[in-house]
Amino acid sequence: MCDIVRYRWRSFLDLIISNLRIPVEKDGIDEYIKAAAQKLNISENSIKFNKILSKSLDARSKKQFYYEISLVVSTADNFDNKENIPLYMEKTATKKKAGDFAERPIIVGFGPAGMFAALELIDYGIKPLIFERGKKIEERHVDVQRFIKDRVLNPESNIQFGEGGAGSYSDGKLFSRIKNTEYVSRVLDTFIKFGAPEEIGYISKPHLGTDVLRRIVGNIRQYILERGGEIYYSSKMTDMLISNGKVSGVVINGEKEYRSSAVYLAPGHSARDTFEMIHGNGIAIEQKPTAVGVRIEHPAEIINLIRYGRKYQNYPGIGAANYSFTYTNKKIGRGIYSFCMCPGGEIVNASSEDGMMAINGMSYSKRSSAFSNSAIVVTCHTDDYKSTDPLAGVEFQKEIERKTFNIGGGTWEAPAQNLMDFLSGKISLRLNNNSFKMGTVAADMHEIFPTFICEALVMAFNKWKEDYPLFVSDHAILLGAETRTSSPVRIKRSEKYESVNIKNLYPIGEGSGYTGGITSSATDAIKAVEASLSTTGISG
Ligand SMILES: Cc1cc2nc3c(=O)[nH]c(=O)nc-3n(C[C@H](O)[C@H](O)[C@H](O)COP(=O)(O)OP(=O)(O)OC[C@H]3O[C@@H](n4cnc5c(N)ncnc54)[C@H](O)[C@@H]3O)c2cc1C
Repeated sequence: MCDIVRYRWRSFLDLIISNLRIPVEKDGIDEYIKAAAQKLNISENSIKFNKILSKSLDARSKKQFYYEISLVVSTADNFDNKENIPLYMEKTATKKKAGDFAERPIIVGFGPAGMFAALELIDYGIKPLIFERGKKIEERHVDVQRFIKDRVLNPESNIQFGEGGAGSYSDGKLFSRIKNTEYVSRVLDTFIKFGAPEEIGYISKPHLGTDVLRRIVGNIRQYILERGGEIYYSSKMTDMLISNGKVSGVVINGEKEYRSSAVYLAPGHSARDTFEMIHGNGIAIEQKPTAVGVRIEHPAEIINLIRYGRKYQNYPGIGAANYSFTYTNKKIGRGIYSFCMCPGGEIVNASSEDGMMAINGMSYSKRSSAFSNSAIVVTCHTDDYKSTDPLAGVEFQKEIERKTFNIGGGTWEAPAQNLMDFLSGKISLRLNNNSFKMGTVAADMHEIFPTFICEALVMAFNKWKEDYPLFVSDHAILLGAETRTSSPVRIKRSEKYESVNIKNLYPIGEGSGYTGGITSSATDAIKAVEASLSTTGISG
């Protein structure tokens, strides 16, 4: 808002103008002002642009794409029609009371959940101790690159483990403020504060990209350290100090004990050894359903053509197109759906254990690669694990990952099959070009997965082919295996976010089994800190 203009108006109003439709070719502030002035029926000179509240692409008509925009404009308060237009009020942050714990709280894991728990504690004036099994993001990046080049996996420093957690090597899709909750807004505002572009606060499908995420992680680290938090790297929690139904601390790397009156457990969905350890310590866990399947990849221009049509296929500024597919078959009792779509992205080797291969997708902020990929996964029920052991879901994932590794030749190449060959039961003679940097080996997906997965995939592709023949076509290739869609374990907790049988232990984020994704893991952490502080009598 231009302060000089506000000064000229003795007093002014900030108004919310909703549902403006701007042709994509005309996108820009001048056009927003023009459309807002028309809506208010006043001259363009009488209003000033203040900020965008929401912006989404309407690509329903392939003849003309629009941006649907809501914004805040300022105008003099003698404006005639003011009763009919909602006023905009800036939210004011509530100052949090300084908190206290008998001993400094401990956070295990420094992914999105661990980072947001730390930031929230620091907001209350509490300085946590943070233990992360992996390395600082800069050193972790070297290990990730070395894995691609030398094919030697560091089981403690990879795409799953290390500062920033699994979220750092991702497309960085975030929930949108448009589906607003106070907590989602807080997470988005925090990302903006630490270096994300402001547009993630208002666009309908915000994403950051791995390059921006890695920078943000470094900024969050710096902020926490400057305010007295301590972060220990290459520091794996190998045991917990538990007595009389209460946690009193953790053991790091099998040697050093740290005492605390509150432990926030944020290990993510891939910390299988940690799940075993906490199960061994009697912490209540249970099986959780998950989803397993393949990555599908097409040239980005094919997805753009399907979604945008010829006119907008290469239109600059609207970005590589995304999609979402679902199919539910009541007879087999399973859903099949696209997951973690990465437009203009790449398929990555997201393994964290030797001899077991898991793949996933990520993108850079520009989403400018020549390929677009997504996981196509099938829901797996706990019955599919064929055991009542609480950790049976981990075994189920491992079995698929072992086969994937072996069928890929044991050198971290990914088993792959062109989609049409998969549907007609043939090994591909010549695999389609794809983005996977560690190489692909022609294979039969049926050899990797339990039969029900491939049967469900075939049903879904055949159904989608009816409406989207270009999607289910020679342009598509499948890579295996996508197993780490969510945790197959739940660490049971109460409404107060505390373990149901161990006091002062707060399982949070994806590893708790109650969240999925960056934003939900981050909001979960904030809520858990609030809940834990309210039991100690501290509130915001
Ligand atoms: C390649 C890829 C792409 C993804 N894309 C997206 C996306 O676009 N959008 C989205 O919302 N989500 C995405 N996800 C999922 C998202 O990354 C996770 O949901 C999110 O990171 C979960 O946050 P978290 O903090 O709970 O766990 P994590 O991010 O997994 O962090 C857990 C941390 O704990 C550490 N740790 C584990 N055990 C121990 C221990 N015993 N001691 C000390 N430290 C330990 C780990 O090293 C890790 O750093 C993606 C995941 C991957 C792998």
